Amino acid sequence: MAVRWSCVEAGCDWAVTAADADAIVPLVQAHIGEIHSSFELEDMIEAVLEDVPDGRASGAAD
Ligand SMILES: [Zn+2]
Repeated sequence: MAVRWSCVEAGCDWAVTAADADAIVPLVQAHIGEIHSSFELEDMIEAVLEDVPDGRASGAAD
């Protein structure tokens, strides 16, 4: 099972899929930092991850 995280910032529809929580956290933090000049705690990211079927893990934004 892979995991997916979707950005909830206003006007932002960015989402990312990765193999697991450890893989997705740095991708999400990079997005939040670069695009929103903010920071998201690892716990907060992991709390809202969605499970998605394997085979869709791209490691990059859709
Ligand atoms: Zn965003």
